[in-house]
Amino acid sequence: AFTAGQAVAWIGAAADAVAEGKERLTELDAAIGDGDHGANMDRGLGAAREAVAALDAAGPGEVLVKTGMTLISKVGGASGPLYGSFFRTTGKNLEGAEPGLAELAAALRAGLEAVQRMGAAQPGDKTMVDALSPAVTVLEQAAEKGTPLTEAARDAAGAAYDGAQATIPLQARKGRASYLGERSIGHEDPGAASAVLIFRSLAEATA
Ligand code: ADP
Ligand code: MG
Ligand code: MG
Repeated sequence: AFTAGQAVAWIGAAADAVAEGKERLTELDAAIGDGDHGANMDRGLGAAREAVAALDAAGPGEVLVKTGMTLISKVGGASGPLYGSFFRTTGKNLEGAEPGLAELAAALRAGLEAVQRMGAAQPGDKTMVDALSPAVTVLEQAAEKGTPLTEAARDAAGAAYDGAQATIPLQARKGRASYLGERSIGHEDPGAASAVLIFRSLAEATA
């Protein structure tokens, strides 16, 4: 099962990972965007960590809704609203005190769909969706096979990593990087890179 405590640990681990990876995210965004992705994610997840630490949540859904609301209010740019709706919608779809892997995977699918509704990005457009989408699919497949959450989350992080690496040769079709046209080719998408950190943090929090 996935508990409120694990959700709080997830957001804390993600805040740590993004703080540690801030420079790298900044460099990736400097190459094909405006160089603020590291600062945006660090500010947002840092604030979310504090907000969820102060909660006495009945379940993980509440923790993730709070995370999403905090990201929406603290982070401008594309990633704030997009990651904000990812977490908020995931949380809204995650019911009960201890949902299982199948429920978590379904809630994350709803979160991903919210991102895609808002940003209109498909896999292959060189965005965070390229890392989020394979990770969610792996969790769904793991739930069907009866894989334990710990192992499923580790596999999902691997799928996110592969998805982010696969953005390197792509030309961006959404977001600021798309303004560069062919010059966006040859760089990893910063939002896909932060999605890897987020899924690795889920694996840490559920290990
Ligand atoms: P901004 O581009 O406004 O400065 P950030 O730098 O924080 O915002 O975030 C950039 C990331 O947001 C991109 O690397 C990409 O992954 C993601 N992104 C941008 N536009 C979209 C979109 N329409 N759909 C999905 N993700 C997007
Ligand atoms: Mg940026
Ligand atoms: Mg910006």
